[in-house]
This record gives sequence, C-alpha cells and structure tokens, in this order.
Amino acid sequence: MSDKATTDATQRLWQAIEERQDELTALVADLVRIPSLLGDEAPAQGFVEGYLAESGLQAESWDIPDDLKQRENAGDSGVPFAGRPNVAGTLPGAGGGRSLILNGHYDVVSPEPVSAWTHDPWGAEIVDDKMYGRGAYDMKSGVALNLFLPRLIRDLGITLGGDVVVQSVIEEECTGNGALDASLRYRADAALVTEPTGGAFTSAHVGVLWFRVAIEGVSWHAMQAWKGVNAIVKAVPVIDALQRLDARLNEQTHPTFAGVEHPINLNIGVIEGGDWPSTVPGHCELHCRLSLYPGQTIAETRAAIEAAIAEAAAADPWLRDHPPVVTYDGFQSAGSIVAMDEPWVRMLAKWKHRVMGGEMEPRAGTGINDMRYFNFVGIPSGCFGAGGAGGHAADEWLDLASMVPTAKTIGAFMLEWCGVAG
Ligand SMILES: [Zn+2]
Repeated sequence: MSDKATTDATQRLWQAIEERQDELTALVADLVRIPSLLGDEAPAQGFVEGYLAESGLQAESWDIPDDLKQRENAGDSGVPFAGRPNVAGTLPGAGGGRSLILNGHYDVVSPEPVSAWTHDPWGAEIVDDKMYGRGAYDMKSGVALNLFLPRLIRDLGITLGGDVVVQSVIEEECTGNGALDASLRYRADAALVTEPTGGAFTSAHVGVLWFRVAIEGVSWHAMQAWKGVNAIVKAVPVIDALQRLDARLNEQTHPTFAGVEHPINLNIGVIEGGDWPSTVPGHCELHCRLSLYPGQTIAETRAAIEAAIAEAAAADPWLRDHPPVVTYDGFQSAGSIVAMDEPWVRMLAKWKHRVMGGEMEPRAGTGINDMRYFNFVGIPSGCFGAGGAGGHAADEWLDLASMVPTAKTIGAFMLEWCGVAG
C-alpha cells in the first residue's frame, strides 16, 4: 500500500465517475421506478441483490428474525418480516486495511396525496437538474451511490485493503428494524449512511417513539347525544395535555441541539374516531410521534407521556373512571451522536473540502435515521449524501448536479479509509 497507489486510484475513480455519471443517474431512476412501500420491498431488494452480484460482490439476502422485535430500540411495524429481506454485498479487501459499511434504506414513505404531485411519484422524471420521485432524494440517491462506487472500483481493477459492505435495509421509515438487524450481522470499522444531507454531515439525531392513545366513550343516537359519551370530545383534554408536554420537553436543552428551533416535536399524526354523523362516537384513537434527545431513554419518555395523560384524565370525571389506554408501535428507539473528531469523520470532511470546498458542517437532526444502530454497537456512524428537497412531501426531488461531487467525496474516502492494495 503506498500513497502513490491511493492517489492514482483516486484519480482513476474520479475520472470513471465523470465518464459514467449517466449510468449513476439511470441507476437512481431504476431504483425510483420500483415502488418500495412498507410491506412491498421484495422486488426492490431483489433488484439490489442482482446489482451487487453483477458487480462481483458476495451478495446475500435474508429475512429479519422475528425475535429482533424483543431487542432494545427495536420497533414493531405490524408487518411480518417474511418475504421482505434485507440485502448486503461484500467487496472483500486483500487485508491490512480498515473496513467500511455503506448503509442505505430502500423503503420510502407513501406519496399520498398523489393529487398534490405535478410529477409521477414513480416516474423518475428529469427536468433540468432535478429528478422527481418518491425516494429519489430520501434515499434512493444514497442506495445508488452505495451500489455504484463498489462497481466502479471493481471495474477499474482496484483492490482495497479492507472490506466494503454495502447494505440495503427495510423499515427505516417506521422502526429501524432493518438497520438494527444489519448492524448485528456485519462488523466494520466505520459505517457511512448515505442519507441525503446536501454536503453536510448528520453527527447527531433525536430518538423517536410512536404511541397510540385509545379513549373510550359511549355510543348513542345523536338525537339524544347527551345520553352518550363522545369519545372524540373526550380526546380534547388529552390533546391539550400532549401539547403542554411538547412545550415542557422543549424547555429542556441539549448542548448538541443548541440553536436548533423546537428540537423536540410531539406530533399528533392520526386521529380515528366515530363512523357516522348521527352517532355519538364510542371510541377515539390518537396516533402520535414524540422525539427525545440522545442520552434519554425510551422508558423515561414513555413515563412522561403516561404521566401527562394521567394528569389530564384525573381532571375529568369520565376519564378518571375510564382512563385512556396508551400503547406503543413503530419507532421505539433512542437517538445517537458520533464525534466529529472520529478519524473516519475527519477523513470524510477532508475529502468533502477538497471536492466541494467549504467545511463539512455537522448537523443535529430533529428526525431519526439508521446511523444509531451502528453507534449503539460501537461502529461509529453518521450520514453524508446528495442534495435535493421534498422528502416525505409532494414533488420530492434529487439535485442531480450533487451526485458527481458526492460520489467523488465518498469514493476518495473509501479508497483512503480502506486502503489501496493494488
Ligand atoms: Zn431516509
């Protein structure tokens, strides 16, 4: 391994990225055109496994074991794991170098309401430098980078010192179970999650938990509504209590989140109740999402939620006798932080500066991402990736002009981190 070998390999890799950038764009488009919503990931993951195998990597796919859900920081999407595989491929190193995981999630959130889109969510339409589509930005851009770079390295005949493991995982958007499982299956010296960050670096992020609050009432004919108990109306003091909890939690501070506006967010995302205008609803349920600072636990956050709801119930005679029932589904995970002076983070920042100029700015995320599971098992991990906008919104788009510089940055980092053996 010599500095000259690494420098030569970097120049050749950069040249190949320039020459083959249309292939990278086409790969993102291929990934976007395979819808990959929760429960329907198999065709997409099959494509990924095929691509990895064609690139000469040792590829495998496997179903997540059911007992994963019992682990700390695991969640439950309610969808069985069978037939919804995780996929990974290994580009084996010659030895003597450091290993690297390139992780990405292939699942995407629903494009609904589709009527709000001016482009086909699964069409990967390109207008100027923007590719539109659900997942084009979050994060089929990153999955494509993770697939493309090892193929170029293989095609150029470059042998790395350490292994590169490419992972495409499921359920990032609802539990993180895919990455949790992958973090237990493979070890490496660092894990880069290629979430789109626009050249910034996600060094910290909140944890997230989802919960439901079920409120019972008494159904009755609306002509004598006063004889029933309206469960929707009884949800109002519960909603008020949750909003007060949100305000109270934001009075706490965390040094990494200083300057971030309203870092903790309690969102009442779904309300279900009643089924007929002339019937008093006998049942109402709220589906909510709450974030927590890194270092705070799911157990203490659940306790805060339950205390806030109990307090609201104590002030209402009906709710006092019929207490709302809190249950948990989806995300149940703490947040995580990676130090900006980790050797691999500094090396990535150096290449970001050389390719794009400017510092690689650390970002504290108010949403959750999969880097946490690698940090939890001692594989330092953060997010760096392409640019664009509209994740989880209509007309999501990827900035195609960001792909070549992002690929060059990550590619050069891979060569230096893993070492060039020949
Ligand atoms: Zn994402």
